[in-house]
Amino acid sequence: MDVALCTINNTVYDIAGFEALSPKCIGVMRRNLLCPRCMGPGFYRKAARSGQASCFGARPHAEFCDMGGPQSATNRGDTLDQDDVVNRGERIEVDFAFGAPLHHHAVEEGAGAAYGVGRQSGGQAAQRTQTRHRRLSTLLKNLILSEDFRRSEQLISVESGLFKVRDFFVPFAQAEVDELERMRGYWGLISDAAQSGDQPPSLWLNTGGRQDLSVVVDSSLVDDFTQRFPIHELEDLAGAYVLVFGCVRVSKNAKKYIAVHDISRITLNKTP
Ligand SMILES: [Zn+2]
Repeated sequence: MDVALCTINNTVYDIAGFEALSPKCIGVMRRNLLCPRCMGPGFYRKAARSGQASCFGARPHAEFCDMGGPQSATNRGDTLDQDDVVNRGERIEVDFAFGAPLHHHAVEEGAGAAYGVGRQSGGQAAQRTQTRHRRLSTLLKNLILSEDFRRSEQLISVESGLFKVRDFFVPFAQAEVDELERMRGYWGLISDAAQSGDQPPSLWLNTGGRQDLSVVVDSSLVDDFTQRFPIHELEDLAGAYVLVFGCVRVSKNAKKYIAVHDISRITLNKTP
């Protein structure tokens, strides 16, 4: 899209106007951009070394929005394949193994009593509840593209227990520091990324909005991370979505962060 709305000063910028701001200003404002028409979550990407011009984007635009221009068709190419659709009735087991073969099986409802799901009374035939292993990447796709999924009450099983999908997955904008350090699936758009100043550097995925929350990939995992999710430069991460299983902490200087110490707990969905 050619223009973006900055929510800090409620101003619509074109690229030239935005880039005329000071670098510090751009650094703050790029975390607070929306599509001016549909209010979809926006991002700014600097010009790439490969020669691609700087740009604004939003992911996703609303169905009715034409601000994505001719690219919107490919943006909506972010669609769910039949195999990715999480069915309402199924119980989700999270598959943390990257690229592992998938398998699924059906269990008699009631056989899952250990999960606290009771058999229906009234002499109805027992319904079959399908348990399916789902990869993080599939879960993230569903979170991005399906409001039905985000709000669903279907059950997801993780080490710490059984949760409703709508309780377990938390958008970054609603993430709060949890003193009890309970694990949740936090997800949302990356506005920009940076390396820390230490050696070896860790990778900071900044999530934008007023939350000032960052996902911090531990320095020991940065090579694994860039192997799994190849990028040419850090700017490629602007506009990507991330899902991370972890907990929100706050640093001594009041910075909220989610630390990643296990590469299997994070997935990335880059711009198409
Ligand atoms: Zn839009």
